[in-house]
Amino acid sequence: MSIRVDQFIVSDQANINTAMQIIDQNGMGAVFVVDASGRMCGMATDGDIRRALLQGHDLTGPIRQVMRTDYVSLPHTATQEEVLNCLSDPIKIIPLLDTAGRPVNYACYHRYHEFQVMEPSLDGKELIYLTECIMKNWISSQGGFVTRFEKRFAEFIGMEEAFAVSNGTVALHLALTALGIGAGNEVIVPDLTFAASVNAILYTGATPVLVDVCPDTWTMDPGAVARAITPKTKAIMPVHLYGHPCHMDEIRAIAADAGCLIVEDCAESLGSEYKGAKTGSLGDAGCFSFFGNKVLTTGEGGMVVFKDREAGKRARILRDHGMSPARRYWHEYVGFNYRLTNLQAAVGVAQMERIGKLFNMRDTIFAEYDQHLKGIEGIELLPRSPWGRHVPWLYCILLSDIDHRSTRDEMIAHLKSHGIQTRPLFYPIHEMPPYRHLSPPGARYPVSERLSYSGISLPSGYSLTASDIRYICSALKQSLPSTLIV
Ligand SMILES: *Cc1c(COP(=O)(O)O)cnc(C)c1O
Repeated sequence: MSIRVDQFIVSDQANINTAMQIIDQNGMGAVFVVDASGRMCGMATDGDIRRALLQGHDLTGPIRQVMRTDYVSLPHTATQEEVLNCLSDPIKIIPLLDTAGRPVNYACYHRYHEFQVMEPSLDGKELIYLTECIMKNWISSQGGFVTRFEKRFAEFIGMEEAFAVSNGTVALHLALTALGIGAGNEVIVPDLTFAASVNAILYTGATPVLVDVCPDTWTMDPGAVARAITPKTKAIMPVHLYGHPCHMDEIRAIAADAGCLIVEDCAESLGSEYKGAKTGSLGDAGCFSFFGNKVLTTGEGGMVVFKDREAGKRARILRDHGMSPARRYWHEYVGFNYRLTNLQAAVGVAQMERIGKLFNMRDTIFAEYDQHLKGIEGIELLPRSPWGRHVPWLYCILLSDIDHRSTRDEMIAHLKSHGIQTRPLFYPIHEMPPYRHLSPPGARYPVSERLSYSGISLPSGYSLTASDIRYICSALKQSLPSTLIV
């Protein structure tokens, strides 16, 4: 499972180079130095060694000269509580010693702390605004925060109005419905996406038509979209996957030719720009998600924007049971209850206040990963748009190895044993049981399949530090087939 204690051990007679090799192999950033009888006499981290080398120590010099003797250790009988009390940010690994002082086990931060794929950043005014809702009894879908959130969001996207809804999936459903899409219509959607994009189309009674994606953006292939147009095509749903804007000029030209609508799925692309315009403002409707793992979160939540004011008006009514805004309990349509609560909107307003900071934090995390993973043979990084801003969401890599699936799944297991949670990329929609019938006989999705089976999302949460990312990348490199390590 995880690293054994003997993978930390180095003799006090060894040189610095040997200790570095052991650190490299265990991927834990430290060695335990023992004397001839196996008793622990010192500890050295990769940081200690780096500092020693900078101070002029030689790789052939004895490890004894650079090890620390003031390390923290605990008896191997220590309770979990005792261990947790000792682990802290600088002390990530603690040797556990037997009565003779020999290391027989170790405790490490990563055994207790699992790196999640995504964690939100909630240290703005989220709690203050939430408390305000509770104190004033405004906890339902009426209350000032909903309109404040909508207004701020609309300004940010560069649209006149925005409509807050309960999640990203219903944002898509509401947009499609307000634009009149339903039974008998076809909607073109990429094969590589989160299933909610396709589900929302199915809810309306329309038929999703799956198309392959491009290797350069991981988003829908305009050539495939053009080939999928039929007289029944009513809309195209570009999904700006992992924050990367789609080939919008091409898609807009196809939509204009075919006379069909564009509903953008921007659940993963809040803040991303295509040639200077925010995703969500490029089609007839733009749909966003504020689920807990998205760049901006309200726990659950979503937002829709429309190009056409009339569609917005319909959406407002449909969101609220289809009830006439002028005549209470008079229903104009079969509507839905897709409202966002004031509590969620309170969190949303606090998040919007820090949106620039949130984007900077994401850029920093991605730059740190790039630094460790760029140029590593066997790893491809996720694409960056040449045509605008790409707001980074999850840090994804592809394994450019031949036997993707088994290598990828072994890597996921290895990282898990190091306390690192990862995710495979989305499965190709056409392979899953409820959607198989959507793929016409003979249709092929080779790019979607290759990306899906060779991709991994790495921990990308807001709380990651540079040293966490270094640890994750070192565990990752360790799990690459050895021939691929440069
Ligand atoms: C998250 C996501 C959705 C759905 O959003 P929810 O708020 O979870 O309903 C839709 N499409 C894509 C591409 C997503 O990533």
